[in-house]
Amino acid sequence: MAQERRPADMHGLAFETVTKRFDDVVAVDRFDLTVAEGEFVALVGPSGCGKTTTLRMLAGLEEVTDGRIRVGGRDVTQLASRDRNLAMVFQSYALYPHMTAAENIGFALSLKGLPKAEIEVRVREAAERMSIAHLLHRRPRELSGGQRQRVAVARCIVREPAAFLFDEPLSNLDAKLRGSARVEIARLQKGLGITTLYVTHDQVEAMTMADRVVLMDGGRIRQTGTPMELYQRPRDLFVAAFLGAPAMNLVPGVLQRSEAGAEFVADGLRLALPRDAACAGGPATLGIRPESIRAAPDGAGEDATLQATALHVECLGAETLVRFEFAGLTGAEFVARLPGTHAFERGRPVTLSVARDAFHLFDEAGLAVDL
Ligand code: ATP
Repeated sequence: MAQERRPADMHGLAFETVTKRFDDVVAVDRFDLTVAEGEFVALVGPSGCGKTTTLRMLAGLEEVTDGRIRVGGRDVTQLASRDRNLAMVFQSYALYPHMTAAENIGFALSLKGLPKAEIEVRVREAAERMSIAHLLHRRPRELSGGQRQRVAVARCIVREPAAFLFDEPLSNLDAKLRGSARVEIARLQKGLGITTLYVTHDQVEAMTMADRVVLMDGGRIRQTGTPMELYQRPRDLFVAAFLGAPAMNLVPGVLQRSEAGAEFVADGLRLALPRDAACAGGPATLGIRPESIRAAPDGAGEDATLQATALHVECLGAETLVRFEFAGLTGAEFVARLPGTHAFERGRPVTLSVARDAFHLFDEAGLAVDL
């Protein structure tokens, strides 16, 4: 008798040490990931890091070289794409233009030979969940872009898939549309509670939409965690530099230890680190997020004060981005993100401050050091 599966097993996804080789290129290298039921996981990373290949292996569009993939607890590694019960969500242009919204949504069910009455009920249910029941008789050209996207999603959910897969769905949209589509997809996913794997090279999409982010590089996972975990506690320099716009300021230098404590030194710049910093001396990189820099000391006493020269000021209304050079460290540009509007005169010395607990430190190998 078939064993009854718990609901949590029914919709989760699992990659078990999955590798993909294209001849001598290792596109995905021993990839391990479990996605829980209803979870939204974003695979993010630079071009060529292996995220699309990972998604395509899950979808059954690419063979796995080594390892196993499970959908709802079931090993699907050798199954054809159509037998995996997954829905690749495409943009609206994937709708059939000559069919009504209802026919588009029900198409997969009629291919399966389901009775007409059942198809009608399921199409209506899916349309109601997507708030497009009043548009079922219309053809794609009679719908707005957003409505077409909803029809495309309804066509996916009518099949009751175990998971939604997205591959860079917003890359062709302009910046404004991308912003609203991001919100739309994230809300939809939460509303429907469907397990989702979402591939993007855009860190903003990954950070704002996903419950968990998997940052890949060279076919491997660099770090997995909630967006805030990756942002606030990057495991290494790569993660620190990838997430955040403007990016984290990075200063190569040397860590010196003395009786008085630890100090970071780069040319003429010397910064005392928190007293309990558990780090050995040697080459190191200091990281400071642009928003951790303040225009003046706040009087708390724990702040590091930095002398700098403003090079360029961008007033964005709600915030001001200031590019500057630290005194004693010429040739390197840093950026501060200050709330509100600030007037800095170009070339004029300014005093900036950073809370010491906002420092990030990386050792010679680029690994984060606890401060
Ligand atoms: P992008 O953001 O540019 O789409 P990606 O992170 O999705 O990149 P993949 O498309 O998964 O990266 O590619 C990972 C690596 O595998 C790259 O080095 C790529 O050149 C290689 N690759 C992908 N598909 C093939 C293929 N069919 N044949 C040979 N090499 C491939």
